[in-house]
Amino acid sequence: MTATATRVLVLNSGSSSLKYQLIDMADGERLASGLVERIGEGEVADHGDALKIVGEELALGGFGLDDPKLAAIGHRAVHGGIRFTEPTLIDDEVVAEMEKLVPLAPLHNPANITGIKVARELRPDLPQVAVFDTAFHATIPEAAARYAIDTETADKLSVRRYGFHGTSHAYVSRATAELLGKAPEDVNVIVLHLGNGASASAVAGGRCVDTSMGLTPLEGLVMGTRSGDLDPAVIFHLARVGGMSVDEIDTLLNKKSGLVGLCGDNDMREITRRIGEGDEAARLAFDVYVHRLRKYIGAYYAVLGKVDALAFTAGVGENAAAVREAAVAGLEELGIAVDRDRNAVRGPDARLVSAEYSRVAVAVVPTDEELEIATQTYALVGAADSET
Ligand code: ADP
Repeated sequence: MTATATRVLVLNSGSSSLKYQLIDMADGERLASGLVERIGEGEVADHGDALKIVGEELALGGFGLDDPKLAAIGHRAVHGGIRFTEPTLIDDEVVAEMEKLVPLAPLHNPANITGIKVARELRPDLPQVAVFDTAFHATIPEAAARYAIDTETADKLSVRRYGFHGTSHAYVSRATAELLGKAPEDVNVIVLHLGNGASASAVAGGRCVDTSMGLTPLEGLVMGTRSGDLDPAVIFHLARVGGMSVDEIDTLLNKKSGLVGLCGDNDMREITRRIGEGDEAARLAFDVYVHRLRKYIGAYYAVLGKVDALAFTAGVGENAAAVREAAVAGLEELGIAVDRDRNAVRGPDARLVSAEYSRVAVAVVPTDEELEIATQTYALVGAADSET
């Protein structure tokens, strides 16, 4: 007897955590999901152990890693460099190429690779696919991808704009087109992915043409703990005048800056609560955050020429009505206006929050990176017949 394998297990391996979701692509149903934390800190010795726990948790729900309906495993991978611009079927050569990219993403890629290795050991027979955070941005033209530095140096060290959160930008830009009842090819969207990490992208007819994160996820918008854009000479100043080491500056800009650097909190809920109490540091943090966001909306409006929709997504974008309202306040001349009441409504579904007269649709579109990884994985491997 044969059964069609339609299930995809999505794995997101971080340095000390392993997130998973089991999705049935026949109907999009989420069959199981979970998170193994504190890997390497005691009970869970390593990612191999963590994956065994995932297998046990799945088995409790009647699935298991040996589930005959499992068609593939889809792995989230952070940095694909210029080599990986599509979802990629993993073999030994792909793993070796991913290892070469570690210097570009030393915090993320090693954990992704470890997750892939242990999953391949457990299920060597099963197709496994890497879906890269950078891939959706591979269409960005050279004019936007190049930094204006010496070309030889840039090429030698692979310095260019890669962009991140691509899986989310891909999903949300498509879902926005769907919300408007149009084909992705027919709409231009500015996607604002505002989570702990935050990035903006300009998507023209389904293809990304610019994005705010660069060589690493440090560039662009103000984030929970990252500075986003700053004069690169700030770094020389911190080193020469402040006597800081490269590692100290790295930590300052990635972990102690952004909202947390400005006011001590990185959670937008806490910041808005403090603003309500008249807290000035929280107010300033909010204003700096929103100012940067408005600059990117304006910049990407110009990059696209014509904009059909702004789409807000991720933790802040989906939940913080005050951020959405402030980000577009006074942009009526650009054809952008939110409706206060619509904007205040909360909900799990994609929805429009623009005013009736707004020429540009303003949308809240919950992101779903796991579903996107599963969809891309399944599209690559297709439905497989397996013995039961
Ligand atoms: P990550 O980048 O870790 O995936 P998320 O997309 O989950 O982050 O976003 C997390 C952030 O979303 C939190 O730090 C917080 O600032 C913000 N957030 C979550 N819920 C709300 C809410 N109800 N109101 C305002 N901000 C929120």
